[in-house]
Amino acid sequence: MGAGDLEELAQLLPGRVGTAAEDLELHARDKGPVLEHILPRAVVRARSIEDVRTILRWATRHAIPVVSRGAGSGISGGAHATDGCIILSLEEMNRILRIDADDETAVVEPGVINADLNAAVAEHGLMYAPDPASYRWSTIGGNVATNAGGLRCAKYGVTRDSVLALDVVLADGTLVSTGHSTFKGVAGYDLTALLIGSEGTLGVVVGITVRLRYLPRSVRTLAAFFDDFPRAAEGVLAISRARIQPAILELLDGRTLESLDSVHGSDLRRRGGSLLLVQTDGFGAAEEAEMIRRELVGLGASVSDEGAAEADRLIDLRRHSRGDAADDVHRVGEDVAVPKSRLVQYVAALEELAARHGVNLKVVAHAGDGNLHPTFWVEAADGEDARGRLEAALDDSVRTALDLGGTITGEHGVGQYKLRWLGWEQSAAVLELQRRIKEVFDPLGILNPGKAIGS
Ligand SMILES: Cc1cc2nc3c(=O)[nH]c(=O)nc-3n(C[C@H](O)[C@H](O)[C@H](O)COP(=O)(O)OP(=O)(O)OC[C@H]3O[C@@H](n4cnc5c(N)ncnc54)[C@H](O)[C@@H]3O)c2cc1C
Repeated sequence: MGAGDLEELAQLLPGRVGTAAEDLELHARDKGPVLEHILPRAVVRARSIEDVRTILRWATRHAIPVVSRGAGSGISGGAHATDGCIILSLEEMNRILRIDADDETAVVEPGVINADLNAAVAEHGLMYAPDPASYRWSTIGGNVATNAGGLRCAKYGVTRDSVLALDVVLADGTLVSTGHSTFKGVAGYDLTALLIGSEGTLGVVVGITVRLRYLPRSVRTLAAFFDDFPRAAEGVLAISRARIQPAILELLDGRTLESLDSVHGSDLRRRGGSLLLVQTDGFGAAEEAEMIRRELVGLGASVSDEGAAEADRLIDLRRHSRGDAADDVHRVGEDVAVPKSRLVQYVAALEELAARHGVNLKVVAHAGDGNLHPTFWVEAADGEDARGRLEAALDDSVRTALDLGGTITGEHGVGQYKLRWLGWEQSAAVLELQRRIKEVFDPLGILNPGKAIGS
């Protein structure tokens, strides 16, 4: 890309093309591990659909890679800059365009923060259910592009289950609308579902019609402390077998409790070796909570019914349990998922393999979905040998999840970091099919190249 190209873009979008060193540095990466530090050529801030179309027409003319970006909170390197790219920031497209309370839908721009949408629709007794732990700062556009999950997804499903329609700008600047504003609709191929989770590799999401759910009138929260982690994982299955559906079912191991205590001054580890955090909601919340309590006490848990303030605090602590630091090559948080029936086995395998490889491990899990976030780390001072052990533990944990019928990524996406494992999960024929779909949407390969499905 010559400087002339950027000048042309700056003329098309005056004041919107940033090339200051600190701007480029700030937008070079998301929170995932960086394999190769690359600075973008420019950060371009869109304020309208027309801006996005202008940027993509320009990018197609000059064959310039475009990395879309919301809040940059992804942890797979999906928003990392790639060679010669511009970063297309959608953060300023942050208007809630419509709330149709009777239809239980809303239409938003991609840069709307998840928590802001929830605050706005709460006035109508509604909620936008998918709530990633990053909901206070991640964008709906980023949530759509990663098919984000969250805490309430145990009951209400992931992003894909709450998105009805999308407006998307394709690589050549064409604007298309997919889906429908009704809850049902099966006309043609489900391109909306295809675009959700495509990590900015098929198009730029510029408008989203979401389905809203009823804000529960009653909520009950239980904190169940177990002596050890596998026993707490057994509690997850006990709740399912009793056929009770909690809204939130989160599992935290002892190392996670310790690290929360040290950062937030809480006393969780003193209360037990592992925590199962359960929230029921809706009119039967109290009864369901009581049934769950009985199941968990039967497994040896010490269960306390948390009042509203303490419940909020615990849920908030859970949202912080990953830590706010970006991952790096010495500390990697994973995102595997396994069938629920394999949770206990997988949790035990994680503890065994971390000990065998001599690496540190802490685990939190959206346990209701069988989705685990083990974080493995070694001390940087321990050198190359420690990094080798970390890599071996990561590979081992992913291979084990796959052997148990799981997946390499439950909700964070493949991005850049998990590409090395994609071929372990998907056959050559499926990978080829995906490459051909990519070619249809993006023949020049300019949309977030080298991410999600590779090149
Ligand atoms: C502390 C912490 C907790 C987290 N908890 C969760 C969790 O519980 N569940 C979960 O699923 N994730 C979680 N995440 C990961 C992350 O927050 C989600 O992946 C989130 O959906 C990313 O949103 P974002 O706006 O930050 O997107 P970004 O990080 O900016 O981008 C993510 C991907 O989407 C693409 N993209 C962004 N906007 C668009 C657009 N408008 N059109 C096309 N492509 C686009 C980017 O190119 C990139 O590939 C967590 C992250 C952190 C740091």
